[in-house]
Amino acid sequence: MQLGAMQDWKLRVTHLLDHAAREHGARELVSHWADGTESRTTWAGIRRDALKMTQALQRIGIQPGDRIATLAMNHHRHLVTWYGAVGAGGILHTINPRLFDDQLEYIVAHAEDRVLLFDKAFAPIVERMRPRWPTIERYVCFDSDEPAIHFEDWIGAENGHAAWADGDENDPCMLCYTSGTTGNPKGVLYTHRSTMLHAISSLQPAVFGMDARTVMMPIVPMFHAASWGLPWAGAAAGAKFVYSAVNDAAVLCDLFRREKVTASAGVPTVWLAFLQEIDRSGMGMPPSLKQVVCGGSAMPSSMIERFMGEGIRVAHAWGMTETSPIGTTGTETWDWDDLSFAEQIGIKAMQGRVPFGVEMRCVDLGDPGIVLPRDGKTAGALQVRGPWVVKRYFKGEKEAVDTGQWFDTGDVAVIHPNGTLQLTDRTKDVIKSGGEWISSVELENAAVGHPAVAEAAAIGVFHPKWDERPLLVVVRKAGVDVGSDDLRAFLATKVAKWWVPDDIVFVDEIPHTGTGKISKKDLRDQFRDFQWAA
Ligand code: AMP
Repeated sequence: MQLGAMQDWKLRVTHLLDHAAREHGARELVSHWADGTESRTTWAGIRRDALKMTQALQRIGIQPGDRIATLAMNHHRHLVTWYGAVGAGGILHTINPRLFDDQLEYIVAHAEDRVLLFDKAFAPIVERMRPRWPTIERYVCFDSDEPAIHFEDWIGAENGHAAWADGDENDPCMLCYTSGTTGNPKGVLYTHRSTMLHAISSLQPAVFGMDARTVMMPIVPMFHAASWGLPWAGAAAGAKFVYSAVNDAAVLCDLFRREKVTASAGVPTVWLAFLQEIDRSGMGMPPSLKQVVCGGSAMPSSMIERFMGEGIRVAHAWGMTETSPIGTTGTETWDWDDLSFAEQIGIKAMQGRVPFGVEMRCVDLGDPGIVLPRDGKTAGALQVRGPWVVKRYFKGEKEAVDTGQWFDTGDVAVIHPNGTLQLTDRTKDVIKSGGEWISSVELENAAVGHPAVAEAAAIGVFHPKWDERPLLVVVRKAGVDVGSDDLRAFLATKVAKWWVPDDIVFVDEIPHTGTGKISKKDLRDQFRDFQWAA
């Protein structure tokens, strides 16, 4: 005889929207469009439209597990698509429009996307890539009736009398690619269960702390690391959302004031532009703002001091696409009130502590069998595990974790005795500039393609605006000359403009490791205090 039982309530993300529509149905969502117009809907409206979209997808034969892609900025129709695609049993694939054509071709083929919904602003990408995207059968445009059917016309043909596809909580619901590793972008496949647990966990005060009174403006794009899970967690909280499809500081600041935004999330580069704009315009800090979440790259102390000095709570977060993405957040320690302002800033400048649901540790860089002490001194390879951490990449042949289930983040860190994480370096050979990845390997390959270059190494160096910018260190071939400007002009023909190193340093020798590889660690140490030209 069964002793008793609890109900079977599958952790499927459509519950989030059902809850939002039922309990917070009238709560508003605002979208500021690229043409400057604005529209308003509610959580009930999002659900109604998502059901219509589910119906429209089922009508064209979308089956559970099929991939539905988006190429779009932040707005409520994109949010409808998150729920509509998943509601049909599909897997939402949010594509980063800043990827290069070869990467765009690769990931659409790899994901086998069947439908693509896009912003008119990205129509040139769609037009250019169409012949290289043979898997896509249907194009829908979010904000125009050309070059594809308008989103509102497409779902407007449905009556919304549909039901969410049923399935298991371990079914996949979302696919996000990361280019933050060497080689081709890798897909991380989130499940309904992992997404739900991540959403519930991220509502705690130590993470996003959202509730029905929150007015959240997610500046983090919906194509970056699941927009930090905000579209899911915000529905559970019944928060008001303010979206902008344009990433312009003046527009954002104006929206903050008009819509009385209380909380927001974005990378440091965005916050820097925000602070410059409120100073430039003389408008000052929006009085409604209470909390700023900043992550994706290290948040500078001066920025933390500015926000905290104006009474705004700062949550400096660390995470990865592979961790859904919340890994740690800079929450207050138990002895917070006894600390001086300077000490508090010092703690917030580190990457924070794990919420319940994430475990972390550092292991020896040479021998992963040795778990390092949390002494705030011994740096090692940062590893994490938990129910929203990747186990195997999409179509990956082997597990991304070792047998102990720990995922190797590629970050190097120390952990302090109070559990605070502090990143000190990176083992992965990539550079993060303004929240986007630059491959140092590709930069180096392009540089050695120049006839005067014997050896080249690209490293990320701190930059006040972009957090990191690539610095190229070059050894010239004997007897051949090349200058910085010529080499940069050459590189501009080989890689995207924003990848071109801001500066090039010519040296006689580049440091190597015992196995003959370029020692990026030594190079980074050598150029740690490098100053960019004004
Ligand atoms: P992504 O998968 O694109 O979200 O990038 C994840 C990587 O960004 C991490 O492994 C770190 O290298 C870096 N990162 C994320 N958050 C922070 C942070 N708060 N400080 C420093 N680096 C960070």
